[in-house]
Amino acid sequence: MIRLNEKKDCCGCGGCSNACPVHCIQMKADAEGFLYPEVDETTCIDCGLCERVCPVLRAGEDVPFSQAAYLLQYKNEKVRRQSTSGGAFTAIARYVLDRGGIVYGAAFDDRLRVHHTSAVSPKGLQIFRNSKYVQSDTEKTFTQVRDHLRTGRLVCYSGTPCQIEGLLSFLEPAGTEGSREELLDRLVTVDVVCHAVPSPLVWERYLEMQREKLGTEIADAKFRDKHFGYNYSTMTLLDDSGEERYVQGIDTDQMLRAFFSNICDRPSCYDCAFKKRYRKSDFTIWDCYPVYAFDKKLDDDRGTSRVLIHSDKGRRIFEEVRQRCRVLEVEPDRLTAGVREMFHSVDSNPRREEFFEDAACMEARTFFNKYFPMTARVKLERTARIVCYRTGVYALAKRAARKILKKD
Ligand SMILES: Cc1cc2nc3c(=O)[nH]c(=O)nc-3n(C[C@H](O)[C@H](O)[C@H](O)COP(=O)(O)OP(=O)(O)OC[C@H]3O[C@@H](n4cnc5c(N)ncnc54)[C@H](O)[C@@H]3O)c2cc1C
Ligand code: SF4
Ligand code: SF4
Ligand code: SF4
Repeated sequence: MIRLNEKKDCCGCGGCSNACPVHCIQMKADAEGFLYPEVDETTCIDCGLCERVCPVLRAGEDVPFSQAAYLLQYKNEKVRRQSTSGGAFTAIARYVLDRGGIVYGAAFDDRLRVHHTSAVSPKGLQIFRNSKYVQSDTEKTFTQVRDHLRTGRLVCYSGTPCQIEGLLSFLEPAGTEGSREELLDRLVTVDVVCHAVPSPLVWERYLEMQREKLGTEIADAKFRDKHFGYNYSTMTLLDDSGEERYVQGIDTDQMLRAFFSNICDRPSCYDCAFKKRYRKSDFTIWDCYPVYAFDKKLDDDRGTSRVLIHSDKGRRIFEEVRQRCRVLEVEPDRLTAGVREMFHSVDSNPRREEFFEDAACMEARTFFNKYFPMTARVKLERTARIVCYRTGVYALAKRAARKILKKD
């Protein structure tokens, strides 16, 4: 039976709960708002399956194999605008939908909680676009994926690296009906380079504050909106008539500031077992800001994805995927060079404990203002960014900053 010695030993993938044959594992939120398995020991039959499927217990080394690497921009500009980077996820998902398949990803529910759900039409993919910087609840999607695969259906599953390893681990004993290889041949997995995932509780408190400040219900949120372009993305909140009611960049928005200060992440993210280059997924996708360093023709401010392909299946699929995109093949070593979030866990913020104590009891606006006040410096930085944006020099200024910081 699964026993957690420390919170960091569980990434919250939900694999154990999906796998338990007697359904005695429930995923329950702790005081920080993160889900952990809770076992009803009175009904446990001690079969050991939960431990066998746990991706943290099974995490392997970063062992090299042959890969292919690309820069990608989806040709449909409306889709690229809605996507976080260049629209790589949509391009891969369309391959699966075109063949009668089903696509899983992270989306908001009707209360803006982030969970995994499915789509079966190109229009339906819209809910997955734009990264949500909150941990997604996978619910019973691993079981649904297994059932679809057993009926012969093609499935695409996207998520964080730990969710993808959790799904693949869960599916390992599932090859009993039909061989495991045949089953997995119908599954296309897409993971992201993952900074870390913030707490659903902090997101809930943030929405509470914004509803009160804006005096309206919030119907949709975009953590990485290209309101000012790809290089200066914003948190954008919309009301139920689709009107933008709030637009603030990473320098001023308090949820984005919380995310980038590593103060509200899941404990497993500070010691992540899935930070590696050679992965079990078919595709890894992530941002490419310094596109100018690879190719001048692709250099624009509308978003470019990096795509790293790990499997032969991924290579075969990409030959079809690329038809809808502008792509540039690059050396895998070059694509991954200097990508810190791929290899290193974030450092925990020293105020994390105090932050969560306050998150549980303080009034929402006072709470966010305590940790992320709108100081004169913050306001000045925002004004400078907007001036740079309006005068058309934002991308150049960011490029210069990256050079100085030796990021390219
Ligand atoms: C939590 C998180 C952290 C990230 N950290 C980095 C980083 O440090 N550096 C970097 O370069 N890129 C990072 N990315 C990836 C980047 O934000 C884009 O997802 C990537 O460039 C793909 O862009 P796209 O245009 O194809 O995506 P889109 O079409 O916008 O699709 C987004 C994809 O991300 C998935 N997704 C969205 N939110 C979640 C979530 N909460 N949990 C699981 N899956 C989710 C969706 O299912 C979909 O597959 C992160 C993404 C997430 C979700
Ligand atoms: S040991 Fe088996 S029955 Fe017990 S919790 Fe784990 S999976 Fe469920
Ligand atoms: S990492 Fe996944 S499988 Fe392991 S204990 Fe946590 S929820 Fe269960
Ligand atoms: S940082 Fe690691 S543990 Fe945290 S969500 Fe990303 S892959 Fe999972």
